[in-house]
Amino acid sequence: MDKNNTHSKRSRMIQQLLSLVMGLLLIFLLWQTGHWSRQLALENLQQQSQHQLRLFVANLQGELQKYEFLPELLATNSLLINFLHNPNDVKSINALNRYLETINEVANASDTYLMNAEGWTIAASNWLSERPFIGRNFAYRPYFQEAMQGKLGRYFALGSTSNKRGYYFAYPVKDDSGILGAVVIKIELQGFEQSWRELKEEFAVTDPDGVIFISTKDEWRYKSLYPLDQAVINRVQDSKRYGKAEIGTLNVSQKDQLTEQAKVVNIGDPRQSDHLMLVREMPEAGWKVHIFSSLGVVNSQVLKSLLITTIVYVAIVFLFFYFIQRSRRLKERERYEKRAKRVLEQRVKERTADLTSANIRLLREIEEHRRTDETLRKTQDELIQAAKMAALGQLSSGINHELNQPLAAIRSYADNARAYLVRDRKDDASWNLEQIAELTERMATISRQLKVFSRKTTGQLVTVSLQAVIDNAMKIVGPQLKDTETDFRRIVPADDIYVQADMIQLEQVLVNLITNAVHAVEQQSERWIQLMVSTDNGKASIQILDNGPGIAFENLDQIFDPFFTTKSEDRGLGLGLSISYRIVEMMHGTLTADNHDSGGAVFTLLLDLAVLDENKLTQSAMIE
Ligand code: ADP
Repeated sequence: MDKNNTHSKRSRMIQQLLSLVMGLLLIFLLWQTGHWSRQLALENLQQQSQHQLRLFVANLQGELQKYEFLPELLATNSLLINFLHNPNDVKSINALNRYLETINEVANASDTYLMNAEGWTIAASNWLSERPFIGRNFAYRPYFQEAMQGKLGRYFALGSTSNKRGYYFAYPVKDDSGILGAVVIKIELQGFEQSWRELKEEFAVTDPDGVIFISTKDEWRYKSLYPLDQAVINRVQDSKRYGKAEIGTLNVSQKDQLTEQAKVVNIGDPRQSDHLMLVREMPEAGWKVHIFSSLGVVNSQVLKSLLITTIVYVAIVFLFFYFIQRSRRLKERERYEKRAKRVLEQRVKERTADLTSANIRLLREIEEHRRTDETLRKTQDELIQAAKMAALGQLSSGINHELNQPLAAIRSYADNARAYLVRDRKDDASWNLEQIAELTERMATISRQLKVFSRKTTGQLVTVSLQAVIDNAMKIVGPQLKDTETDFRRIVPADDIYVQADMIQLEQVLVNLITNAVHAVEQQSERWIQLMVSTDNGKASIQILDNGPGIAFENLDQIFDPFFTTKSEDRGLGLGLSISYRIVEMMHGTLTADNHDSGGAVFTLLLDLAVLDENKLTQSAMIE
């Protein structure tokens, strides 16, 4: 029990430790994956943004370059030079205005105008519009000042009259006498902004002060990326570059510097997603072009990677645990099967041992039985022999009597015959000799009886004549019957009856039964014994009745037991009936005892009738 507890505690601890390790590993993996995928996504985004920015800048430069040369070209025109020399020439003013208007239209510019050396606009393409530039002074504009210095002036500003954002190119108009004025072309970049608005990236072009003046996002316009000093704001506002527009700030804060040109920034609101900001300079214009790409795509990329990593990790962990569990279950099953096998083997062993011992016991018992059987058989043979000897003993007095009498008679007849011969009385001698012959015949009969009795049994069942058996038995018991003056009644069918039997043993049985009957009737004043033979249903029935006292009811069950006797020691051993019973049993017959109505005993012997075969009738013949 304790061992189990410690074991389960230990495995729980191992499981907890394993879970902790797995958890830590997952965190580490997610962190790594997050880092890598962010790096990768940022690099991708950076590349894309760089590409877009390059396009944007190229596009913007292209747009500007389209007009860059135009003021220089116009400045060479004598119309302009002449007019600057004679500004009051009314004739040529209209022609000049019309010329500028045409040029403006053809170039698709916003405005084209001519300024004198004091900064006054003296001719303009919009001379017919509601608010023409003519008569207005733009001397404060840097492009004019640059042109008056003999350079190509460039400037971006909100038109003070049109209130439209424009880019100005100004070029000095000069002749040998020097710079007479400046010709200016203003272009609008609204259309350009419009065409870039459809992209998901945002663009912002800042002036050297960091103020956005071109942007795909309207609300960013006129805002600085970073907070500006008040002095700078004042300066910008004083320059009227952006008219009366308030200069605000986007308040861009840097979060990560990826490269010199690339930063991760937040645009004014930490709640909004960060942006990747790339910068590219346009030195000729003194501008910086910024592209802002939302990191939303990076974040979703990172999120996707984290999700995939988690799923893959969970799947691996699940598989790992599944295989561990499976191998544990397999081991468990193996253990269980081994145990079951062991138990089974043990049981088989036990059973085999049981069987073996039972077998040994059985063999021993069989051996014992065999020995007992042998002993029994021997004992039985001995008993039969003993019974024979007993019968012989019983007979001996009779035999003595039977033999001594004729012997004595023979002696006296022989003496008589000799005497008669001596006296030559041949007839008398002959009569005496005849008597001797008769007596020897009688003695031969007695000896034949003894011979029959001592003959060894074959134990084999053969067809025997019942009459012959009865005759033989009678020869043995005859003297007894005669001595005791017992009436013997023999009721036998006229035709001979054949049974399956061992002749000698059957004689033995009959001798036993008749001898018992003789003993039973001894005390009766009138003594009779009756032997009845009949056949029925394939059986021969031999019944021996007497008029003795019969068998006591309580003895009926025991009389066939060996050594059961009611007689005195010198008269009976109690073996006769038990031997007879065995003998009859061996001949497949039955022997039963009862009392008949007149009171005496009746013994019934049933034997199988033999199927008659002449060749087998030899035994009865032999006896005779
Ligand atoms: P034994 O004759 O030596 O006693 P048996 O086995 O032949 O042995 O007989 C057993 C007993 O059966 C006898 O002692 C006797 O009591 C009884 N018995 C046998 N035959 C008769 C009979 N015809 N009438 C009465 N009793 C008998």
